[in-house]
Amino acid sequence: MLVVMNASADEAQIANVVKSIEAKGFEARVSKGELKIVISAIGSKLTDKRDFELLPGVTEVIQLTTNYKLTTRAFKSEDTIVEVNGVKFGGKHAGLIAGPCAVESYEQVDETVKELLKYNVKVIRGGAFKPRTSPYAFQGIGEEGLKILRSVADNYGLAVATEIIDISQIDMFMKYVDIFQVGARNMQNFNLLKELGTIHKPVILKRGLSSTYEEWLQSAEYIMAGGNGQIILCERGIRTFETYTRNTLDLAAIPVIKKLSHLPVIVDPSHGTGLRDKVEPMSRAAIAAGCDGLIIEVHYNPDCALCDGAQSLYPEQYGQLYQEIKQIAPIVGKEII
Ligand code: PEP
Ligand code: MN
Repeated sequence: MLVVMNASADEAQIANVVKSIEAKGFEARVSKGELKIVISAIGSKLTDKRDFELLPGVTEVIQLTTNYKLTTRAFKSEDTIVEVNGVKFGGKHAGLIAGPCAVESYEQVDETVKELLKYNVKVIRGGAFKPRTSPYAFQGIGEEGLKILRSVADNYGLAVATEIIDISQIDMFMKYVDIFQVGARNMQNFNLLKELGTIHKPVILKRGLSSTYEEWLQSAEYIMAGGNGQIILCERGIRTFETYTRNTLDLAAIPVIKKLSHLPVIVDPSHGTGLRDKVEPMSRAAIAAGCDGLIIEVHYNPDCALCDGAQSLYPEQYGQLYQEIKQIAPIVGKEII
C-alpha cells in the first residue's frame, strides 16, 4: 500500500502517517519527491485503506497489486540516478562500462584499459569469478583478479564493476570493488540479493535468462528492501527459440522497465548477441530506445581471449561505437560523457 501526501506536508504529519502504518504492523518507507511524498507500507497484512485516507496531509491511498513496492515508479516518480566515479546511470544520463569478459592477467587488463582510456572510459568491467555453464570451462582467477582490477583502476583513476557469485565473497569484494554485479544466473539467488541490500555500494542486477520483467523487479526489490537503493538493472538478452544469436536481446525491456520502475536500466549487447559484429548496431538501438547505459566487452586482443572472445570488441570498434552513441544520445535527451 502507498500513502501519498502533498509535497507541502510537514514533518509532524509525515511522522504521524509513519506511526499509523507501523501501528498496523507494517514497515514504513518514505520517498520525498518534488510534487509528492509517498510512504510505502511494507508487509503482507490486509488493512482498510480508509484508516489512512483521513490522516492530515494524505491525498490518496493506493492499494498495490504488485510485489515490487519500492522499485515501482508509483513509490518514487523521479528517476533514480546511480553515480560512480563521475559517471551517471539514469535520468538524462547514459553511463558506459567497458572491459574484458574475464580478468586473465595484469598485462591483459592493463593493455585493454590503456586502449579504453582513449575513449574516456571511467568504469571498467572484468570477471574474476566466472559462473560457467561447464565445470571444465575457465572459471576465472579469483581474488587475484580482483587485485588486478583494483590496481589497474587505481593507476588510472577508474572504478571497477565485477561479478559476485556467492554470498561468502561480499567482505572480500568490499575491499576491491566499486560496483557489485549480480549475473543472470544469480538473479534469483535471494540470499545473495538480501545481503547486497545491506551494503553501501551500487549493484548491477542482470536479468535472468528466462525471467519476466516482474520477476526481475522483484529481485531488485530484495536489494532495495534491505536498504540499498543503488541498483542498476541490466538487460542482457533472454532465451528464446532463436539460436543464431547467443540470446535474444530484448530492447523492449527499456521502455517497459522505465515505465514500471524508477531504477536505471542498462543494456549488455555483448552477451545479448554473442557476436562481435552485432554489438555496435544493438548498442545504437539501445541508446536510441532510451537506455541508461551500456556494459560492453572489449579485449585488447580478443582472438586470444580466454572467455567470450567472439563477442568482445577490438578497442577501435569500441571507439567507433562510442562516437556513434554520443551522437545518438542527445536526440533522445541523454548525455554520454
Ligand atoms: C558477465 O557479464 O560477465 C556475464 C557473465 O554476464 P551474464 O550474467 O549476463 O551472463
Ligand atoms: Mn562474457
